[in-house]
Formats: sequence, C-alpha cells, structure tokens
Amino acid sequence: MPHVTYVPLTGARVREEAMRELGMTLPGLQARAGAVGQLPALGLLTLAGLQPPHWTCSYRETPTYDHEAIQAICNDRPDLVAVSALTASVEEAYRLSHRLRSAGLRTVLGGLHATACTAEATAHFNAVVAGEGEPVWPTVLADAEANNLQPIYRERRPFALVRAPVPRFDLLGVAPRPRFTLQTQRGCPLACDFCGASRLLGGFREKPAANLVQELGDVTRIAPRPLLEFADDNTFAGKRDLTPFLDALAECGARWFTETDWRLGEDGARLRGIAAAGCVQVLVGLESLDQRHAGMGSKQADWPRTLDAIHAIQEAGIAVIGCFIAGCDGETLASLDRTAGFILASPLADVQITLQTPFPGTALHERLRRQHRLLPTRGWSHYTLFDVTYQPAPLSVVELEKGFRELVGAVFATEPTRRRQRLRRNIWANNPRLRPWAS
Ligand code: SF4
Repeated sequence: MPHVTYVPLTGARVREEAMRELGMTLPGLQARAGAVGQLPALGLLTLAGLQPPHWTCSYRETPTYDHEAIQAICNDRPDLVAVSALTASVEEAYRLSHRLRSAGLRTVLGGLHATACTAEATAHFNAVVAGEGEPVWPTVLADAEANNLQPIYRERRPFALVRAPVPRFDLLGVAPRPRFTLQTQRGCPLACDFCGASRLLGGFREKPAANLVQELGDVTRIAPRPLLEFADDNTFAGKRDLTPFLDALAECGARWFTETDWRLGEDGARLRGIAAAGCVQVLVGLESLDQRHAGMGSKQADWPRTLDAIHAIQEAGIAVIGCFIAGCDGETLASLDRTAGFILASPLADVQITLQTPFPGTALHERLRRQHRLLPTRGWSHYTLFDVTYQPAPLSVVELEKGFRELVGAVFATEPTRRRQRLRRNIWANNPRLRPWAS
C-alpha cells in the first residue's frame, strides 16, 4: 500500500532577540502563542480526507525538525511527504525537504507561501501545490504512485466547499487535545491590502451548515465537549443561515472562537444566536488607530461606531480580541504611544498586536517591492509578524522596532493583562450559556 506522511511546519516564530525575550516574559503574549501552537494543521487533515482507500498515512507534527523527527518520517517509509508551511517557516521547510530528498524520499509543499512563490518552492520540493489543495490532491497521489510527480499542481477554479471532505481528525491520536479547528468559510468580500489569506486561495465562499454539522460530529467523537477555533478569514461576512450548525454546537456544549469584523456588533439577532451556541471570543481586526489601510471597504468606520459595536458583542457575552497592526505608513513614535493609551483605556477584553508584514501575494508586498522598501537582509524567516521586514516611513527600522517593543511591553504588562482577564470573566459571567465555564 502506498503511504503519505503529512508534516505541518506551523506555530509562532520571532527573530528579533529583544522581542523574543519580551514574548517569553509577558503572560498575555505567551498565552496566545501557546494557543496558536496547539492548533492542528487543518489543511493537511483535510487532504488526508481525500485519499483513495488504498493509501495509508501518518501525521507527524513536532515543533522542530531535528534528526529524531526526520528519522521518524523516514521510518514511515512514505511514498510521499506532504509539507505545509507559512512564510516564516518556509526556509525550515526547504531545509527539511533537502534532508528528506537526500534520504531518497519525495516531497510536496502546499500552503499560502507555496501559492504566492511557486517558482521559488519548486527549487526545493519535488512538487508544489499552488492554490487550493483539494481539487488536485487525488491527482498528486496518483502521480506519486505512478512515479510521475509533476513540478506544479494548480487548479484555478475555486473549490466548492460543499464538496469539502471531512478532515481526518482521527490522525491526531488519542492524546487529549486542547483545541480543534474547523473551517466554515474561505476568503473575504473585503480586500485589506495587507491580507493574503483572504484572496490567495480564491474568493469568498461559505461551507453549508450540513457539512459543518457532519465535521462537528467527527470532532465530538474524539472530544465530546470541544474547544474549537474556526480557521476562517471572516466568518460572518456573508448571510448564510447557520442555524443547524449553531444548534449542533449548542447541543454538544462546544465553546468556540473565530475571526470576523466589527459589523457583527450591529446584528443583534445573529449575536444572540452565536452567543447561545457557545461563541466565547471573536478576533476583530481594528488595525490602526490613526492610519488607514487600502481595501478595508465597509470595515472602515469612525471609532465611536466601531466601539459601540464592540460593546454590543461583549454585552452579548462574547469577548472581543481587538487586533492592531503597527508600522503602516504614517506611523510615528507618538502614534504608537497613542495606540498604547487607547488600548489601555479601551473596553477590549483581549488584544493582539503585530507588526505590518508584507506577505508575498499581497497588494502591500507588491507596493513595497516596487518602492524598493523590502529589506534584502531580512528573508522569509523574518516574516513572523513580530519582525520589521521593510523600510517604514517616516520611522527608521530601529525606531519602529523600539516603538513596537514599548507598545507591546505596555499593553501586555502584568496589570493590563489582569484587567483584561477580569473583563473576560465578567463578560462570560453575564452569558448564561457560559456561566459554568467562566467560574
Ligand atoms: S476584513 Fe479581515 S479577512 Fe477580510 S480582507 Fe480584511 S483582514 Fe482580510
């Protein structure tokens, strides 16, 4: 029987030493990095759901690919090793592929980076999947079996999510897992210029509720009352009726987290429905206090309206993680200070702050490349969201690094972190559906 080994190279990374030390010491940052690191690689588990029955597979996740991990992959004696990597981990993926290929194995890479930089990736992998993996995966496996792998597999037509297979959660093993992922939609109707995830794999699509009920059923066979994180770009940007899925979430007692934009706060009926279905937290992109990004469309609104929407979401019993991006054009040390003051006085129950990062395939990357502002000495491994990778304006690189560290240090200091913990407890205590969990 042919065998494929699935290898995710994900998890948070930071290059700049001072920022790394800060991340190790600030409890709020540690918690979020830990949560991201616990997420299973849904893309690979989904591809495993498309395997023909005569293929066997294994799933090998490990934080670093040392000699022991490589040996474990080789011991599977796979006919193909399927790797997924983010931009920040792609250089590790290239090194891993070279090691595996010199051990006589064949490798294939997929993911957002492979889609945006396909030609680059073909120099390191036997094959590269550009774009969505589902439409081409059976062909990749058939070609691997026939010893006829092609350098590039690409299906330009968007994959209909109604045909999405149920991810192979069984590959995660029996060890208790703190959280699971499901994907309920792909893409986004908005077009923020820094955002690649919402465009690179095709336009906005929603998975029907019936598929989601089936996927949830598979998760609950492993974890009866799961904690879920939706791998979505903007869950509530569309108008689909999610009632059967929300009912199933409520019935199994799931608690869940997802990403959306603040306009959710202006839809009272939907808010009540998702709170009753166990929605605990939503990440909302607020981006910047002073600066505006191109492509934000109707997400761009005045602050009083946005803050009213955040209040409404939190009053429904759902904590908001306000997501800010530092370093876009026009950012100054004074504006970073203002952002810190705004966040510290805000009602936000949690916060995420990252540096603007021009990921390949985004309009932002193309603009900075044309302006010769990408830093040639800072390759893909610096695209961590915590390292400066371009020449900011008007700040210098060193000024932005320092200003960003100070912003992060102020927002994630012990007392503001405790204050946000108390806010979250109060929000959840007001939600009858979550009260036992909040206590
Ligand atoms: S709203 Fe969010 S998902 Fe949509 S384009 Fe903007 S950043 Fe991307």
